[in-house]
Amino acid sequence: CGIVGYIGNKDSKEILLKGLEKLEYRGYDSAGIAVMSNEGVQVFKEKGRIADLRKIVDTSVIANAGIGHTRWATHGAPSTRNAHPHRSGTSRFTLVHNGVIENYSELQRDYLQGVELQSDTDTEVIVQMIDLFANEGLSTLEAFCKTLTLLKGSYALALLDEEDNETIYVAKNKSPLLVGLGDMFNVVASDAMAMLQVTDQFVELMDKEIVIVKKDEVTIQNLKGETISRSPYKAELDA
Ligand code: GLU
Repeated sequence: CGIVGYIGNKDSKEILLKGLEKLEYRGYDSAGIAVMSNEGVQVFKEKGRIADLRKIVDTSVIANAGIGHTRWATHGAPSTRNAHPHRSGTSRFTLVHNGVIENYSELQRDYLQGVELQSDTDTEVIVQMIDLFANEGLSTLEAFCKTLTLLKGSYALALLDEEDNETIYVAKNKSPLLVGLGDMFNVVASDAMAMLQVTDQFVELMDKEIVIVKKDEVTIQNLKGETISRSPYKAELDA
């Protein structure tokens, strides 16, 4: 299972699909991508292989930002419905997640009474909560941070906000996630191997850090909102 993300000057679809293919070795049962353009976010997901996903991706869509996921099901059967990305009910937010949210049923009970879930995953609770808090007036960053402080478990997350097509929000806790730096683009990936196709400059992330990724800027913060500076390293292919 793994995560990829791209934001920049190029079309994201092929970069995401190639990235997911590089993550195939981690094992998965389904895969999906979400791409964001001026026309909004479109999600393509499928049970089975990346080759099956490729067949359903609308190649006419040009989108400069997107996120992708290979799923190894922990909550909810392997199926297209449970494949990531997951969208909030208003469809404003779109999320991919690797890991396990241990308290998802408590969170659902405490925050999401009356919200009709569209999957059987632990993941969907996260995206619905972000939407709920944003609806209550928080900024996307605030809603994301507030949700993260309530989660128990492991996660690597990448989030799209349809109202802001210049940003991908990411965070991690006990699941691997890296940010890759490029010239007028930036990427995220569970493993540098997925994005060596476009860059070899990577920044390591620590648990409970949040990253605001734009095509020309990467800002790492902790949950208190303090900015963290960290130098990139050069990733080498050792195979
Ligand atoms: N727990 C999530 C699910 O079952 C994510 C699994 C994964 O890491 O791929 O959908």
